[in-house]
Amino acid sequence: MKISRLIKESSLPTLDSELLLSCVLQKSKEWLFTNPDFGLSNELLEKFNELQKKRREGVSIAALVGSKEFFGLEFKVNENVLIPRPETEILVKEVLKIQPKSLLDVGTGSGCVAISVKKNLSNCEVWASDISPTALKVAQKNSQKLGVKIEFIESDLLEKTSREFEIIVANLPYVPQNSVEIEAGVKKFEPSLALFSGSDGLDLIRKLLIQISKLSQKPKFVLLEFSGDEQTEVLKIFTSKIFPNSKIEILLDLAGIPRVLKLQS
Ligand code: GLN
Repeated sequence: MKISRLIKESSLPTLDSELLLSCVLQKSKEWLFTNPDFGLSNELLEKFNELQKKRREGVSIAALVGSKEFFGLEFKVNENVLIPRPETEILVKEVLKIQPKSLLDVGTGSGCVAISVKKNLSNCEVWASDISPTALKVAQKNSQKLGVKIEFIESDLLEKTSREFEIIVANLPYVPQNSVEIEAGVKKFEPSLALFSGSDGLDLIRKLLIQISKLSQKPKFVLLEFSGDEQTEVLKIFTSKIFPNSKIEILLDLAGIPRVLKLQS
């Protein structure tokens, strides 16, 4: 069947079917536009139909095509990592403003934060940790593909890290365990290890903050992603107790939602 007809007759939004077709054909979207009469073999048609089915079940386009753009770079993703979200780009932007000489990205997942920082700050020594060896494999592949040198560590938060860092950043799981707000497709197909963290979503963030407060050499900055007003209140109280001498700021994302806790010692 011809490309033009497949797109027209697909029950998916046009952009979705275009992206899935370019993945199946291994061609750019522009190529599809200039070759509307190209006919798919039965084998490729079957592949396309399989992807369309999964998309209708709620799997994200990024997971289906195996990649996602973040901070202008293309990251490989799979079922073992959280798909990079645009709101996480503010973590990277904030780091670039500070221009640190060393950084640790805790719970790196696909590696999107650590790698984007290193791409833009080549003098910064970048370390990235994750508890999941399968996630670290994805991050490692991404760092090789994008040509940056990052030190990877398999570690439960700071357990296996020993050196001092100027900045610690983290986009840890922060979705409350029984959240009704999370999209069905996200809940069903993204790794729960990367999403959920206790009844208010903040268990891991609290654990990390406690670990940081006990370091003999504390980082100058800590940047942690979270979400919303409720978590803001809890985090402000918790953080001011264990870091009484630090400056605490809350940064908003582009939608005006509180998104990043910034600590400066
Ligand atoms: N922002 C993501 C979501 O709401 C969650 C990311 C995270 O837990 N770190 O789906």
